[in-house]
Amino acid sequence: MSNKDNMYQRILLKLSGEALSGTLDSGIDPQVLAAFTSEIKQLVDDGVQVGLVIGGGNIFRGEQLAAAGMDRVAGDHMGMLATVMNAIAMGDAFRRIGIDARVMSAFPIGSVCETYRRDDAVRHLNKNRVVIFSAGTGNPFFTTDSAASLRAIEIGADLMCKGTQVDGIYSSDPKIDPTATRYTRLSYDEAITRNLKVMDTTAIVLCRDHAMPLRVFDIHEKGNLKRVVNGEDVGTLVECGDDS
Ligand code: UDP
Repeated sequence: MSNKDNMYQRILLKLSGEALSGTLDSGIDPQVLAAFTSEIKQLVDDGVQVGLVIGGGNIFRGEQLAAAGMDRVAGDHMGMLATVMNAIAMGDAFRRIGIDARVMSAFPIGSVCETYRRDDAVRHLNKNRVVIFSAGTGNPFFTTDSAASLRAIEIGADLMCKGTQVDGIYSSDPKIDPTATRYTRLSYDEAITRNLKVMDTTAIVLCRDHAMPLRVFDIHEKGNLKRVVNGEDVGTLVECGDDS
């Protein structure tokens, strides 16, 4: 396996729970799982090391459960467990196409999956296994975006990729504002001060403080992930330096 054509050797890909539900109102669409795993397989076959953080918003979000009257911490525990369910489904989909994938949880659920340890994760990645990081950071009041930044930094990823439903970061919501324009490049501070809703502030600040470049792109566009890893100018790149 050779990785000579790829700009990045090790990536962390963040997928929201919503991305997994595809055209369904909630839950997991098996066709979407198959599409994502096949895109990721192309990278793995090329020798790129892939870590994945999956959200849980297609099943439960603590904030919404709290708005409905539930204790926020209990709701966040349910949200984190929802990410574990998504990760198990994803791990199963990988194994069905012959990719060795390991699900890790931020808190111990030993009979279901491995407990996250940075060194174990890196060992798996070095063996060309896809590592699926679940249960977020393991703490309430955080998001899986923050978990993605954290894991990207911990495993020493070359790039954090945020696969979304739109093709990058826009000046305003392109679904509402027809004059919205897409940024090709942004600094972390611009993303924060312009309140562009790329990721929550904690997640961006973590990337900024550890100089972790972040590319936001449309995950549903076939071949995009490969283009990103080849270093092509897809979506929006958030990194250090001058604002554009
Ligand atoms: N969550 C949490 N701590 C974390 C990550 C997630 O408590 O470190 C909970 C939180 O309730 C959140 C839910 O898990 O709403 C699902 O995660 P998220 O909303 O980030 O999923 P996504 O929007 O990416 O699908």
